[in-house]
Amino acid sequence: MQWRVFGCHSPFPAPGGATPGYLLEAEGYRILIDCGSGVLAKLAEVCPPYRLDAVILSHLHHDHIADFFVLQYAIQTAMRLGWRQAPLPVYAPVQPEKWGNLLAYHDAIQLHPIREGEGYPLGGWEVTFFRTDHGIPCFAARLEGLGRTILYGADSGPRTDWSLMAQEPDLFICEGTFLQRDLPDEPVGHLSVQQAAEAAASIRAKGLLLTHLFPEYDRNEIEEEVKGSYSGRWWLAETGLTLSL
Ligand SMILES: [Zn+2]
Repeated sequence: MQWRVFGCHSPFPAPGGATPGYLLEAEGYRILIDCGSGVLAKLAEVCPPYRLDAVILSHLHHDHIADFFVLQYAIQTAMRLGWRQAPLPVYAPVQPEKWGNLLAYHDAIQLHPIREGEGYPLGGWEVTFFRTDHGIPCFAARLEGLGRTILYGADSGPRTDWSLMAQEPDLFICEGTFLQRDLPDEPVGHLSVQQAAEAAASIRAKGLLLTHLFPEYDRNEIEEEVKGSYSGRWWLAETGLTLSL
């Protein structure tokens, strides 16, 4: 199975990059996880956007959903032309209502509002969602299947309790929005790189993919901060990075 990074920047993309979006592909089943600005063009390099089997949107901030509204067009067009028969299953929170009301689109989208703690079967995966510490309803996703556990941390502040979600996941995808020196005095629903590394250590993650990176930071500085707090295998996200599990 493969975890592919299409976008990893926030709140705006670096040149040639994209804001968050990832493809989990296993046994021919493709799940797109978040769909930020620039993600669809990167996805199209791997497969036509209308060939997705499911989409998970962790929350409805624009850096995670900007391209979703164009994906609606791709699905609708493919159904009209007979290239696709079934609507696209989309798992997402429906709050804030202003954006939640825009997720369904004619007969192209089959919307499944996320309910915390409930298990959803997606392909060979059992997916469970957990609320994170963020300004609007935002959900981490634990994906278990095919002998692997993946924890996608979404956007998350320091009050997120990772221990409830997974222990020793094979891969933990965690945001590191700030360098420690820029961490706001009051939590704002995001982690520093150091806090992300400490979170990975606390659940004994076997692998850490650090993402949700500020595009103006020096990557060397980010790397130095991870090294001080986490001794397992880790990767710094970049567009085009593909991890095989
Ligand atoms: Zn974000």
